[in-house]
Amino acid sequence: MPRVGRRSFLKIAGASAVAASSRVSAQASPDVVVIGAGAFGGWTALCLRELGASVTLLDAYGPGNSRASSGGETRQIRAGYEDRELYTRWVLTAFERWKAREQEWGRRLLYETGRLLLAPEWTESLKVTKAVLDRNRVPNEVLSHDELARRYPQMNAEGIGVALFEPTTGVLKAREGCLAVAEAFQKKGGRFRIAQARPGTRAGSRLVDVALSDGTSLTARTFVFACGPWLPKLFPDLMSRKLFTPRRDVFFFGTPAGDDGFSYPNFPNYAEDDTQGYYGFPSIDGRGFKVCPVGERTPFDPDTDERVVSAYQVKRARDYLALRFPALKDQPIVESRVCQLEMSVDEHFIIQKHPELDNAWIVGGGSGHGYKHGPVVGEYVAARVLGKDRQPELEDTFKLKTRTF
Ligand SMILES: Cc1cc2nc3c(=O)[nH]c(=O)nc-3n(C[C@H](O)[C@H](O)[C@H](O)COP(=O)(O)OP(=O)(O)OC[C@H]3O[C@@H](n4cnc5c(N)ncnc54)[C@H](O)[C@@H]3O)c2cc1C
Repeated sequence: MPRVGRRSFLKIAGASAVAASSRVSAQASPDVVVIGAGAFGGWTALCLRELGASVTLLDAYGPGNSRASSGGETRQIRAGYEDRELYTRWVLTAFERWKAREQEWGRRLLYETGRLLLAPEWTESLKVTKAVLDRNRVPNEVLSHDELARRYPQMNAEGIGVALFEPTTGVLKAREGCLAVAEAFQKKGGRFRIAQARPGTRAGSRLVDVALSDGTSLTARTFVFACGPWLPKLFPDLMSRKLFTPRRDVFFFGTPAGDDGFSYPNFPNYAEDDTQGYYGFPSIDGRGFKVCPVGERTPFDPDTDERVVSAYQVKRARDYLALRFPALKDQPIVESRVCQLEMSVDEHFIIQKHPELDNAWIVGGGSGHGYKHGPVVGEYVAARVLGKDRQPELEDTFKLKTRTF
């Protein structure tokens, strides 16, 4: 990534001197304050720092914390996106970035598990997904019911007529990835602080500072609010009914003693009926076979709601195991989590300037698929903030839509 010097950064950012707030913190004003150290904010802060900006990254609870949408053990990196080819292309870049960072940081974050998209029959959605994968040279294979049953005797293929297999799809370490990004950011001279922030003083169309939970404030030339499911709390007028944050119960079931048939690399990720169904991953590092029942519509408060799985979702997960993976049906749950999604109205990311503030950016709306794109989102947002990316079509895709939930 090309670096720009601090002087040119200031020129590009184009800010006039900002008025000092009455109670500023002792720290000198950075060029950019990024609020939120999840997948989107963490990568944005790192990329901005690598481009030469002085950056402070703030998080109320810490990178990849248990309340964040980027928290938890694992997230999937898949290339199949039906006709949303932009994301397929971004995933291909993301794969390269994750692999390069693994090398740079000397830690493993990506497991190439492969992924089975299971369906009763060859549907229009599978057809479109395959066409996009082919066009982008993403390896894939169509498996018949019989071939599926032959390759994966651990799975009961009853009712599955066909599967689209993406062998290069994988699993990313989620929480650990956020910690790795924050660590790299700090090693490269970025400043990280635990603090809850809210928009502070305004001067015309500029945000002067953010008000912090310790009573101080922090000035900067540019602010990036990458607060995931918290965005409506920070910007109630702008974001109310633009983000929906339903809960998701996630289960890790024990694998049978002495049996590695449900563990990486012996079984791939799987997904069945995207809207009401299930998906999951093989056990990685002995953490258990992951099962996520989807479709829950109960809104979740990321600060205050308790993260205890519901009896209803436990039953759904167990019923699914009994049907599809009968050898696991009596295995105990060895770990469980409750997370919240941050769905935008059209499931596109939201990346735009605040409509009333020339120097404040809103970044979020990962919509259940954002984690894997972190490195690419970070590069893209950093370039936008620096005025170095002008792609009107993308700007349009990522702008806040007028539609509401
Ligand atoms: C169950 C589940 C499964 C998913 N599966 C996948 C998957 O398989 N593949 C995939 O790619 N994506 C997946 N996603 C989506 C993906 O995890 C999210 O889109 C992505 O992690 C969002 O990152 P973010 O940085 O926008 O938000 P977050 O990770 O929520 O980060 C926001 C951060 O902002 C901080 N913050 C908020 N308010 C403030 C404030 N006022 N001051 C300071 N800090 C603040 C929070 O503490 C938090 O750390 C899944 C999500 C869930 C919940």
